[in-house]
Amino acid sequence: MHKLPRNALRGRAWKGALGAMALLAFLPACAGAAPGTGTGSANGTREPWFTRALVGMEIGPTGAQFGHSDPKDARYCADFDGRELVRRAVAARSEYLVVWVRDGDYAYHDSKLLPKAPGLGPRDPLREAVDEARRHTLPIIAYCVMQQGGHYLKAHPEWEMRGPDGQPIGRFCLNSGYLEAMKQIVAEELTYGIAGFHIDMLDQGFGPPYGCWCPACRTQFEREFGHPMPAGATWDAAWDDMLEFRYRSSERFEKALAAHIRALDPAATVDFNYHGNPPFSFEVGQRPVQHAGNGDFITGETGVWGFSALTVGLNAEFYRAAVPHQRVQVAMQRGVRMYHDQTTRPLNDMRWELITLLAHGAFATMVDKTAFDGRLDPVAYERIGAAFEEARAKRAHFGHPAVAEVGLYFSSRTRDWLARDRPNDYFQGYLGAHKALAYEHIPWGVVLDENATAASLRRFPVIIVPNAGIVSAAEAERLRQYVEEGGRLVVTGLSGCFGRRGEPLQASTLEALIGARLVRKLGTVDNWARFSSADLRGLGLSENSLRADWPFLVKGPAAVFAPTTASPIGDLMAPYRTTRQTQGMEGAEWPMSADATVGPAILSNALGRGQVLSFACSPDFAVAGEHAVVEARKLLAAAVRRLNPRPRVRITAPANVEAIVTDDPVKRTIRVHLIGYDSPPQTMPTRERPYVLPALVEDAPMFRAVVELQSPPRSAKALNPSTDLKQVGARTEVTVSDIHEVILLRY
Ligand SMILES: [Zn+2]
Repeated sequence: MHKLPRNALRGRAWKGALGAMALLAFLPACAGAAPGTGTGSANGTREPWFTRALVGMEIGPTGAQFGHSDPKDARYCADFDGRELVRRAVAARSEYLVVWVRDGDYAYHDSKLLPKAPGLGPRDPLREAVDEARRHTLPIIAYCVMQQGGHYLKAHPEWEMRGPDGQPIGRFCLNSGYLEAMKQIVAEELTYGIAGFHIDMLDQGFGPPYGCWCPACRTQFEREFGHPMPAGATWDAAWDDMLEFRYRSSERFEKALAAHIRALDPAATVDFNYHGNPPFSFEVGQRPVQHAGNGDFITGETGVWGFSALTVGLNAEFYRAAVPHQRVQVAMQRGVRMYHDQTTRPLNDMRWELITLLAHGAFATMVDKTAFDGRLDPVAYERIGAAFEEARAKRAHFGHPAVAEVGLYFSSRTRDWLARDRPNDYFQGYLGAHKALAYEHIPWGVVLDENATAASLRRFPVIIVPNAGIVSAAEAERLRQYVEEGGRLVVTGLSGCFGRRGEPLQASTLEALIGARLVRKLGTVDNWARFSSADLRGLGLSENSLRADWPFLVKGPAAVFAPTTASPIGDLMAPYRTTRQTQGMEGAEWPMSADATVGPAILSNALGRGQVLSFACSPDFAVAGEHAVVEARKLLAAAVRRLNPRPRVRITAPANVEAIVTDDPVKRTIRVHLIGYDSPPQTMPTRERPYVLPALVEDAPMFRAVVELQSPPRSAKALNPSTDLKQVGARTEVTVSDIHEVILLRY
């Protein structure tokens, strides 16, 4: 199974090694709502605390995050002081504070239900925090861990998940008596007058055996589905029911816990740390939409440590798509590597990530983990304070509706049933399509199969379906309507070529849209494309950006299509196979050069008032791979531009600058956020060469950008005094010397 490269997500590797749950400790947190802190809505007149929140903090201890810590070690949390947490958070301009209150080992308050962290002695940090917060009207949210191995699970083996062999697997079963225990735990915490809860780690594990076979689960499964549980991941009809059962179990648990909290205190907020987006897959028991809206707002996390630098924005937009009706909270960390590493990032590194989240419309929680004894790092708070100060000063420029030209269509069924326990096989195409659009400054948004409607598709002038192998008849019909009514569609690779459970189909379910018949899938991924001068002109590409009659690698799945109504463009070429490769004596992981043309590279099909461009190869997959030639990316961008030649906003900037476009229709202002990611070259990695982590951002970059509208704006201005701005007609040119700039274009 491929979740993440181990060097990228060390927490997961640790988790595996621990057999249970360390990730939760790495997961951040946040948010809640409420009463005792003076921002609640108990009287129905005040809005919940999170409605206008922009920046907040989560603070928790370091030392018990792996569980099973020494309960006699009185050094642990000896100085974990609730008053000090509040004072420092307030001084850093935090608008709310998530306090670590319970994990798999301890409570961090006086609990009748749970043992208290050993160093606290008679002190009660939650009481201290709530008392101090009242003076500052700072909402206090309790960070409450749900799923973590440790002393509590050890004390309650009757609630532990069981593998098919009946052996315990180190996590809490969501269909056990643990729900009632959690209800008591949150009830006790509510008596403090907290504003709400952040509930972390509502997952069912991150690896095999992918389920719970305890007697309670077996009984309930049989009642719901009328047959016994499959004995493991059989990937058949019975396993389809098993996945459904796991999804239902997570949803039931979330809803029951949220309802319980609301019944006790209607003003208290609840949010669950979300695991429905890449790189997470079926294994955690969450679907992108099904498990996104069960709290008052969605909370996810980001960070280079587990998600890459580029997907900070993708995470925020994915969450938004999952809960279009809710606010989006994203957690990031102050440590240079991960949550619990006791290090402090340079200010510009923090600014880049924080501003990226805010520009994508999220509110952001900075996670700080204290020293072992509970003390706080003064330098971290200086830098966090500077970053928060800037964010709050720019508040008016965040939170407007996004202007997105392209919708990136995500297929949860493909994730589950085609990629299965190799989810990256599917994610790679999706992430590559996103990467291409981000590098090319084509504003994008996320479309999810679970909640897509005709109206939600129509919001995007162009939709890309990147290698969604499983496209149901209903989805194909919705996409057909979208195109017939004037929508423009890009389809890549083997989209639609597989059945409901991942079985190969003889025909793609998208053939009517593609305008071509599937002849055969290529069994290779080192496939090539080649275009003539006339092809390039047809795609709107100059020979400066792509050489004519020159084969280039487009590494990814491909198929031979025979046009029916579509016009073919360019050549798809299969790779050579050496004699030894054909004899099975040599692998084919490394690309081999181009052999003969086997079919068209692209198919262009008019349908109703719309147009479909289909790639028989996978430029999306190529862009996220190790052989990410620039030409593959240019191809994808050219497809979008050919389908939508006159976008509302057109941006030219270096590839390390992210552009986010929003529209304030009341003030008739388009904002173009430009965010420079200036990571200097990295040295040789200490392990798993050549897989490097990016270096920290230290300097503010200087870069030039051009923003073109369809007609000249009434005015164009930049926020930073240091920015050089020149407007000529519809074209605005800027030279920026900072991490972040906002170009305001009045229309
Ligand atoms: Zn169970």
